[in-house]
Amino acid sequence: MPFYEYACQDCKERFSQILTLREYGEGNVKCPKCGSTHVEQVPAQFYTVTSRKS
Ligand SMILES: [Zn+2]
Repeated sequence: MPFYEYACQDCKERFSQILTLREYGEGNVKCPKCGSTHVEQVPAQFYTVTSRKS
């Protein structure tokens, strides 16, 4: 499962989400803290991902 990391531009909360490709394409990611959709994707580099490339 792909992880995507986001930073909320309103409350500065950082959170990671597991999204399907369709959800990712729709881009309707909400901040879990304040519910804002004003989020920005950031490179996920705070954890090790051992996913296989397909
Ligand atoms: Zn927020």
